Amino acid sequence: MTIRYVSTRGGVPPAGFEEVLLAGLAADGGLYVPESWPRLEREDLEELRGASYQQVAARVLAPFVGDALSEADLRRLIEQAYGAFDHTAVAPLRQIGPNDWLLELFHGPTLAFKDIALQLLGFLFEHALARRRQSITVVGATSGDTGSAAIAACAGRERMSVVILHPRDRISEVQRRQMTTVEAANVHNVAIEGSFDDCQALVKAMFNDPVFRERLNLAAINSINWARVVAQSVYYVTSALALGAPWRRVSFAVPSGNFGDVYAGYVAKRMGLTIGQLIVATNRNDILSRFFATGRYGLGPVEATMSPSMDIQVASNFERLLFDLLERNGPEVARLMAQLAERRSFAVPADALGRACELFDAARVDEEETAVTMAELLRTTGELIDPHTAVGVHAGRASRVDPAMPLVVLATAHPAKFPDAVRRATGLAPTLPPRLADLLQRPERFTVLPSDLAEVQAHIENLVTEPA
Ligand SMILES: *Cc1c(COP(=O)(O)O)cnc(C)c1O
Repeated sequence: MTIRYVSTRGGVPPAGFEEVLLAGLAADGGLYVPESWPRLEREDLEELRGASYQQVAARVLAPFVGDALSEADLRRLIEQAYGAFDHTAVAPLRQIGPNDWLLELFHGPTLAFKDIALQLLGFLFEHALARRRQSITVVGATSGDTGSAAIAACAGRERMSVVILHPRDRISEVQRRQMTTVEAANVHNVAIEGSFDDCQALVKAMFNDPVFRERLNLAAINSINWARVVAQSVYYVTSALALGAPWRRVSFAVPSGNFGDVYAGYVAKRMGLTIGQLIVATNRNDILSRFFATGRYGLGPVEATMSPSMDIQVASNFERLLFDLLERNGPEVARLMAQLAERRSFAVPADALGRACELFDAARVDEEETAVTMAELLRTTGELIDPHTAVGVHAGRASRVDPAMPLVVLATAHPAKFPDAVRRATGLAPTLPPRLADLLQRPERFTVLPSDLAEVQAHIENLVTEPA
């Protein structure tokens, strides 16, 4: 039996894993989700106790991949993806209280949790492209973390070029250098004289230009890609197993922006993992916590915070949850998303909100609480944490209902990725891991361009079509 994926808007025929992997977004504008949820039974979970991260990943991913990959190929790609992580456990737990844990997701090449999904995605893409004898150009805009993780995932791959647009002088030096010091010939950075929104508008316009899109075979590796979501479900399973699942329930607090990471926890729960609470932690940009409080999903202005990777308003993966809350009524999801585009908000019926609140708790954390949490954790445990993780710690402690149930907070970034905010809150300057110690001395390579579509397109076309 092989798995099939349907669109949350119900407007396209079901598709297989490889199609979903390469397409990203469905052609009706919806997001792909599995037609039915694969199960991890109690015995399956018991069997996985003591298994390595890679072994658990192979078991969790296999039913989602279906017959798109052989078992041996899947295992090999997983081994390759996680071989370069700094920690052999890939995502180790660290205790920070009597029954509180950090799940460290930042031991990949670019020091944020996005590496866990994107490293695997790079290998999955390469495998699919080789089979199809195709090449692609990955084009993306970044306000910081995603660009470096995408570059690290694509660097040196034969059938992929990657072009990342960032707003000139508006991302941190560490973030910029993680992108611009990569030496691979297929990696191209463009600093746009404008804002992140300008960069995103340029990328959108390139995808909306059918001739350009086809000629360069443009692809996106953004957070709505199903393979990214399911790669993230793996660490919910490994950490819950380490803390007593399936005999004990475990709660999670998840620093959230696009709703991809915490939705991956929901997927693990639907599969049968014994999860207690799933706590959605947001910063001042609180569209998600407002939704869980009121049932209304309404866009507001984006505010800058010290946890910039969560400074977003439209939480794109939320549509996947909405699909389930509305009992998989695709046309109704399409109607609400159209209403969102037109009127900037929509509301769900009371029964759907009831279902949402059974599944999730949510809390909003302000800047002061974030800073205080960083300082307090340093004082009580000696741990330096980054501002995103601090939002998770604060929200988790405020929202947990049962202190006897283990609480795992997802540590989504290494503190050295946000040195200024960490130093301001704690008085300590976090240090980069040894492999990145000379990051600030490495030569950089990037092109500065005005925010002009024709110029950017001409530049990219030159890069990609010219033999290296
Ligand atoms: C992307 C990111 C998040 C938010 O994750 P979502 O899947 O978008 O909810 C949180 N913390 C860090 C450090 C990130 O890079």
